[in-house]
Parts: sequence; C-alpha cells; structure tokens
Amino acid sequence: MSERLPVIPLKNVVMFPGLVLPLLIGRPKSVKALELAMESDKKVVLLAQKDENADEPSAEQLYDVGVVAEIVQIFKAPDGTIRMVVEAKERVRAKVHDKGEYFEADFEALTEQEADPTRAEALVKSVLMRFEEYARLSGRIPLEVVAGVSGLKEPGKVADMVAANMSIAHHEKQKVLEATDVATRLELVLQYLLREIEVLRLSQEIENTVRERMEKNQREYILREQLKAIQEELGERDERTIEVEQYRKKIEEAQLPEEARKKALEELDRLQRMPPYSPELGVIRTYLDWLVSLPWAKRTEDEMDIEQVRTKLDRSHYGLKEAKERIVEFIAMKRLSSNPKAPILCLVGPPGVGKTSLAKAIATALNRKLVRVSLGGVRDEAEIRGHRRTYVGALPGRIIQGMRQAGTRNPVFVLDEIDKLGVDFRGDPSAALLEALDPEQNYAFQDHYLEVAFDLSEVFFVTTANTIYTIPPALLDRMEVIRVPGYTEDEKLHIAKQFILPKLYEQTGLASQEVKWNDKAVVRIIREYTREAGVRNLERSLMSILRKLAVEKLEKGFDRVSITARSLEKYLGVPKFRYGKALEQPEVGVVAGLAWTEFGGEVMLVECQVLQGRGQLLLTGSLGDVLKESAMAALTYVRSRAQELGIPADFHKKYDIHVHVPEGAIPKDGPSAGITIATAIISALTKKKVPNDVAMTGEITIRGKVLPIGGVKEKVLAAHRVGIQRVILPKDNKPNMEEVPDEIKKSLKFYFVDSMDQVVDIVLGKTP
Ligand code: ADP
Repeated sequence: MSERLPVIPLKNVVMFPGLVLPLLIGRPKSVKALELAMESDKKVVLLAQKDENADEPSAEQLYDVGVVAEIVQIFKAPDGTIRMVVEAKERVRAKVHDKGEYFEADFEALTEQEADPTRAEALVKSVLMRFEEYARLSGRIPLEVVAGVSGLKEPGKVADMVAANMSIAHHEKQKVLEATDVATRLELVLQYLLREIEVLRLSQEIENTVRERMEKNQREYILREQLKAIQEELGERDERTIEVEQYRKKIEEAQLPEEARKKALEELDRLQRMPPYSPELGVIRTYLDWLVSLPWAKRTEDEMDIEQVRTKLDRSHYGLKEAKERIVEFIAMKRLSSNPKAPILCLVGPPGVGKTSLAKAIATALNRKLVRVSLGGVRDEAEIRGHRRTYVGALPGRIIQGMRQAGTRNPVFVLDEIDKLGVDFRGDPSAALLEALDPEQNYAFQDHYLEVAFDLSEVFFVTTANTIYTIPPALLDRMEVIRVPGYTEDEKLHIAKQFILPKLYEQTGLASQEVKWNDKAVVRIIREYTREAGVRNLERSLMSILRKLAVEKLEKGFDRVSITARSLEKYLGVPKFRYGKALEQPEVGVVAGLAWTEFGGEVMLVECQVLQGRGQLLLTGSLGDVLKESAMAALTYVRSRAQELGIPADFHKKYDIHVHVPEGAIPKDGPSAGITIATAIISALTKKKVPNDVAMTGEITIRGKVLPIGGVKEKVLAAHRVGIQRVILPKDNKPNMEEVPDEIKKSLKFYFVDSMDQVVDIVLGKTP
C-alpha cells in the first residue's frame, strides 16, 4: 500500500535512517512542500538530487530511493530561508510527481534483507575497526561519533551511520542507501573505508616529506627571528648583526647560483664570527660586496626584429657590411634556436674606422648594455682573471669588473686592443682571455678572486685590433676576423655628410640648415687637414669648425653660413699636409715608398745620399733588422747592375752610401721598402731625378726580382689619399687589386712589375 507526501530535494546530503540533521530550505518548491507538511503530520520525503549543482531539478533528476523524515524543528531567518531539523525514519522507494508549486511522491517502505548473523558480525567488526582507523587518519570525526556507531545494535544501521559520516562522493552514499541487502551494504561500506584509508595514508606520507623540508627552513627562520628579538630585548643587537642581515637580504635578492650562494653564506658566517677590529673584516666585506653586486640573474631582452636592427646599424654606420651581417645572422639564429652561440667579432683596422663606435651601435641596436675594457699593455694574467684573495688589495680581473659595470649578464663586451696583449713571467693573459671567449668553457669562467664560476655564455664579445699579426693564434682562432682597412675619399665625404655632421649638429646645438657645406671644403679637409685611413681627425676638424661657428653665432648672430674650401683657413689654420705630390718637385735620391703600419697605409719617403768615403752603407731612421737587410739586398743588386745603370763599377769602394727614412721616432720594419731603397740609391748614384707623382712598394732579392708584399689595399688607399698618381706594385700582388674600390682603380695608374729593371725603366727612364 503506498502513501503520499510532499518531497524536499536534497542538494548535497544523502540522508540515512536514524540520522538527525539540520537542513537549510530556500528554494520555493521546497518551502511550499515544507508548508504543506507543517499543515498536516510534519512528514516529508527526502530525495537526493542526481546532480548536486542543479538549482531547479526536474522530477526525473531525483533519485527514487530516499527516506521519510519527520520535521523536528523549524526556524525562519529574516531573509526568508528556513532552517529545519529533520529526523530520517525509514528507507523508501518513491515515485515523484511535479505539482508545479512543489514535488509530491507516492512511496513505499523498503524492507531489508537480513544477513547471516555470523557473517554480519564479522563484517560489522571489520567495518568498525576500519572506521576507527579512518576517523583517526582523517582527524575530522569526533570520538563520540565513533563510540556511538560502535554501540549500534543493528548491522544495517552500522553501515548507514559509517557511510553518513564519511567524506565520500554523493553518488557513493546513495549507493549505500539503495543497498537493501545488509551484507552487501556492509561490504560496500568496507570497500569505501579501505580505499579512503589508503588515500589518507598516502597523502599523509606526502605531507610529511614536504613538511619536513619546509620545517627545516622555517625553523631556521623562526630561530633567527627569535634571536633577533632576544638580542633587541637585551640591547645587544649590534651593528654587525644588522650588517649580516643586510648582506643576507642582498644575497637572496641577487639570485646567486647554488655554488656562489653557498660560498656567500659561508663568508657571511665568517663575518658574523670575526672578532671586531680584525683586518679580515674588510676583506670579507669587499668580497661579499662583489658577490652580491654581480649580475647573476639580470639580463636585458634582446631586440629580435631583424629589420629594426638592420636599420639601426645602417643609420649609425656607413659600410661595415660584413660586421652588420654577422649581427643580423645572430638574431636570426636566436629566433630559431633557444640558445645560439653569439659570434665573437674581431674588428681589425687602423684607428678611426669605426670599430669601437660600431660595437656601441651593436649594443644599442640589440638593446644590450655596453662595457669596454682595454687590453693594451696587459701582461699579467691576474689583470684578466683577478688576484687570489690572500693577496693584499686583491680584486677581480677586468672581465668580472666589466660584468659588474654592465649590470646585466648579457652585455656587448668590447675588448679593445687585443693585439697589444703582452706575455711575460707573470703568466699569459691570453690563456685567461681564451677561457672567457671560448663558448665551450665560458659558461663557467673562473676568476681567482671570485673563486666561484661566473657564466659568460650570454655575453656578446667584440674585440678590436689594429693588426692581426700580434694576436695570439689561439685567440685569433676563436674569433671572426672582420677587416676594416680604411675609407676612400668619396666614402669619407659620404660618411662626413651623412653620419658625422648630423651627429655633431646634435652635440653643438646648431641646426643643419644653418650651415651650408661645400663638398669641396670637406674634400679639402680630408686632403689637407687630415691624412688618415679612418675618419677620426676628420670628425675632429668638423667639430672644431662647428664649435667656432657656435661662438660666432652667439657673438654676432647669423642665419646661415657657407663653409667653402677657401674659408677653411679661417677655422682650421694653415693646412697640415700637402696634397698631390709626395714632394714639392722631383729630386735626386728621394723616393716615395708605400708602407703598411697599424695606422693604415702610409706614404713614406726614402732618402739616399752618396758621399766621398770608403764604401760604407749607413742606415738611419729607426729601421728594423728586416728593413736593414732589405737595404743590403738592394745595394747588392745595384752593384750587380752597375754597368748597365751607368754607375762606376768601383762606386762601392769610393763612396759612402747613407740611406735614411725620415720621422726617426717611428720604428719601421718589413721587406716591402726593398725596391724603394734600391731606386733611391740608383737615383743618388746616377744623379737622375725621381718623378714626384710615383709611389712604390715591393720586396727585392739580390738578383733584382720583385716579390709580393702585404696590405695592398691599405697602401693604395694611402697613395690615393695623398694624391699620388702612379703606383708600382709587384706583379704577384695583382690578385689583391680586387679589394681596391673601382673609383680608385680608375683614378690611379698602376704598374705591375716582377723585376727591378722594370722599376728603373718606369721612374728613371730607359737604362742606357
Ligand atoms: P676606432 O674604434 O676604429 O678607432 P671609432 O669607433 O672611435 O674608431 O670611430 C671614430 C669616429 O668615426 C666615431 O665617431 C664614428 O662615429 C666615426 N665613424 C667611423 N667609421 C664610421 C662609419 N663607417 N660610419 C659612420 N661613422 C663612422
């Protein structure tokens, strides 16, 4: 026989017979059902929702097994919700009808199938034992509840109450409720208990390990805080303690790698225990200051837009294509791979061709910091790698100092004058440098002072040099050498107008439209006021003119001035160089030679005088051994050809021959002046004048062969620079002409020779 009662859906509880619980009622349908129940016998059917989250479940969304419950108490809250206490009576199977305003159900009590008493007893015992364990592990079930459950007489009730008190899923509880067979119900509960116990044990184990780890740190922290408090209380917190704490904070902030952090904390410990007035105190402090101020973790974000970088570099520097391409390639690689090796550029060339300023431009274009360290005259390994701390006044080497100055771990690091490194008994600085530059090693660069490794692998190194010949080969091997031999007159004019002047206007505060530059004026500065491979003096001269104009503007005021070739004297004084000829006029015994120096190519005069004497060869003008030998070879050639040249055969007995290369303060060496010296000697002996529009270079053998020389491009640029019109070069150097810009090839006349006889023909006319 079925009965009918209003239904209240349960959102997140499952009621079991015997359970007394407070419930909150707020949904209109539930409120209506409650009202109806209160008007009759205060009974309702409680059915759990299949979906805990549904706010307005339909009749189908309610489980059909639930309980009949009696309403024990109700309280109304001012906001309309109702709190009621219910006591669940018995399991029922219900058929729910939606009455619109509320749910109603026809229901029937469910009968339980009792279990075999022995089996039931065994199951109850197991369940109770596990429940106790579960309660203990979870720590959320009061002891009274456990005791209460143990006191229950009916096996079915034990299962119900245990399930009611466990934190298991809603649908699992419903399953227990639906199990009318008592043995099945007990087994189900036992199964849940075992599973939950396993989960609890496991999570406890995890918690324990984590806690242990944390506790150690926390304990230390708490102890330290307590110590601080105690010391403060006792008025014992001296400056040292405060200092140590400050260092500790800095160490945390600097994000040191593990090795360095350990070292720093050890030193801090020493600092703390050091007696006052110990001289060691200062040493430790300096050391800690170094450790915490290095950029262990700080870096700048690279500009990754290739076009952007290319534009920036092109805007700041003319030419230098190869170097710019390397940078662009590096960015391309960086975009494709996570950690590409930065190239190590070695820019080689005379002063003022833009090596250092290009490095600066690279840093700006890549959005990196820039540091510059000069290696000129560094002989001591310790200058690169630092002194050990036992050394009085020890400091880190220049690399680490540079890193501190940069403040980031990925700067552009310029190593200037890498060709001027020295080697002596204090160790080889190039070995230390190698370690800094070598991508295989530099992620753990060792500085003697620092004692812990520093990672240089993100640094972009750019080195500069005037010549590659004195760069230690092992270093040279690691670098990408990019030669910048110097600029032609046209290039200089372009650089002056497009790059230097705009920059200078900014510096002087003049506006570009206020000054009109005549190209001829700039060319005259290039020819007569500067004589260089680069543009440094050109820049200086332009600056000097602008400075004078700035004064003029303030004193007299003008809208626009013109700088013409003729007005240059007013600003720059008399010209410093004579353009066009090596000499005012052709002379006997004076020949223009072409030389290569670290400052680029040079036109160098060789003088020769023949005097009555006893056949001595006198060589002056700071000549190196190779140059002296090449003079002797030249003399031997002249003797062997005396007859053809119309020179008395016994000249070497009657005359002293003096060869001099002016500007004695500058040391000169190398074999390439051979043909120049020979020509000077012949001219002096034959009294024939040497044309002053010719310059030459070439090594000579004692049989009068002309051998190839180096630095062709630089030498040709130099000849062009001073306005020479004809150049004599060794035949074997012809392939090097490819490097020479076309405009120069066009404006000069070249002779390629392989014997000294040809040279004599060209400059002194046919031999008789
Ligand atoms: P280096 O380091 O080779 O001695 P710098 O970098 O000091 O030469 O250059 C000297 C000056 O000449 C700088 O002000 C630089 O801007 C300018 N300069 C040199 N080469 C170029 C170039 N290719 N384009 C633009 N300016 C240049």
